[in-house]
Amino acid sequence: MKYHKKINMLIKANKSGGDIPMRKRIVAGNWKMNKTNCEAVEIIKELKDLVNGIDNVGVVIGAPFTVLSDLNKVVNGTNIKLAAQNMYPAANGAYTGEISPEMLKAVGVEYVILGHSERREYFGETNEFVNKKVKFALDNGLKPILCVGEKLEDRESNNTEAVVEDHVVNGLKNITKEEMKNVVIAYEPVWAIGTGKTASPEQAEEVHKFIRNLLVKLYDEETSQGVTIQYGGSMKSSNSKELIGKENIDGGLVGGASLDAKEFAAIIKSAV
Ligand code: PEP
Repeated sequence: MKYHKKINMLIKANKSGGDIPMRKRIVAGNWKMNKTNCEAVEIIKELKDLVNGIDNVGVVIGAPFTVLSDLNKVVNGTNIKLAAQNMYPAANGAYTGEISPEMLKAVGVEYVILGHSERREYFGETNEFVNKKVKFALDNGLKPILCVGEKLEDRESNNTEAVVEDHVVNGLKNITKEEMKNVVIAYEPVWAIGTGKTASPEQAEEVHKFIRNLLVKLYDEETSQGVTIQYGGSMKSSNSKELIGKENIDGGLVGGASLDAKEFAAIIKSAV
């Protein structure tokens, strides 16, 4: 009975009906431009103990470039993976202020957050440039977390799906089915980022389902079912369980709440 219950849950979570591996939930923190080395190491040391032993939810920290090397020494051998918050699509050269995938991998980075709305808004990143980065990250062994999402005016003018489709389709241009195994998508409604306004679980699930169906059209059912789609936008431990409980919400990309180890660990635990 217990066994059947477990199998049914797996099938339900998978929704594939076929021989498709279940996608993994991933909760990633995005620290943005916060924390010096000492502060960062302190948080990670605390987090490491709080999430020790959790193996069915991926735990990722997107930290500033300057702290990655020190964090790598602390997370080495634990279940915490590192992400960068940006990357330049070239191996090396005259790109003042930029950073390459090789440099990131050398300090233990596995993921890279790309196309975040703050980079689109303040640094003029276009879908075309984001796509170049996604492709280059994959070609060089980094796993992109591709951020997509509408602004408030898009939602109010009923353009949410058009904007999300534009971000997904153009962000994933020339990305193969095989490469999609290493891509994470984060749906982040811009109006919910850092504002304290969270999309309701129903609002978020509607868009996640839309993205999942779009991936079926772009690739196929199997590929679509394998992609982790995170929700991001004022996620906290008080709302994460309900959000992540939705069928197509496979974790979170967490900004503000990831700066506190206890709060971030509570979000991770709500995804277990
Ligand atoms: C983010 O920066 O990706 C984010 C979701 O921020 P917050 O959780 O603070 O809204």
